[in-house]
Amino acid sequence: MKLDLGEIILHLGKRIRYQIDEPPIKDIEDGIRNIKPIKGEVVFSNAAKHIVVRGHFTTEIEVVCARCLNPYKMDISLPIEEEMLIAGHLPETTEAEAQLPEDAKEPLFEDNILNLTELLRQYIIVAVPIKPLCDEECKGLCSQCGQNLNQEPCNCPPEEGNAAFADLAMLLEQKDEDESKS
Ligand SMILES: [Zn+2]
Ligand SMILES: [Zn+2]
Repeated sequence: MKLDLGEIILHLGKRIRYQIDEPPIKDIEDGIRNIKPIKGEVVFSNAAKHIVVRGHFTTEIEVVCARCLNPYKMDISLPIEEEMLIAGHLPETTEAEAQLPEDAKEPLFEDNILNLTELLRQYIIVAVPIKPLCDEECKGLCSQCGQNLNQEPCNCPPEEGNAAFADLAMLLEQKDEDESKS
């Protein structure tokens, strides 16, 4: 959805309330699927040099667990807080945009038109953890046979590499303790 904010831009102090009711966004990002419509509300107000955007929205997405690779559902409920500089002033980077890689950016506010879908997309991406987990306790996949260890344990012998790491970790811990004593 693209919203023409030209009317607000002409009138200082003007406020417009907009009900967000968007179909799920198709291409959010690899590994993120928007599976429910986006609902919410946003208020635009003209504060002279910029438009203040305040609101909130909810939706549901499906993301892929970084450990077991199973998709799982995640509720999204976020406040919207932006300030869009009115044309003629220098462009501004939004909070959400600032956290995205360069090539992920699309014009958000251009010629007084706000790309609301793009704004919501950016908010959703930023809300997803870098390593999403279906559960804090997710056991992940066996690195040898690929078995999803949440479903049932496999019969693979414990990995030697891991054992060596465990020893090293213990040594390091020991060292820390020694150091903190001295
Ligand atoms: Zn998982
Ligand atoms: Zn295994």
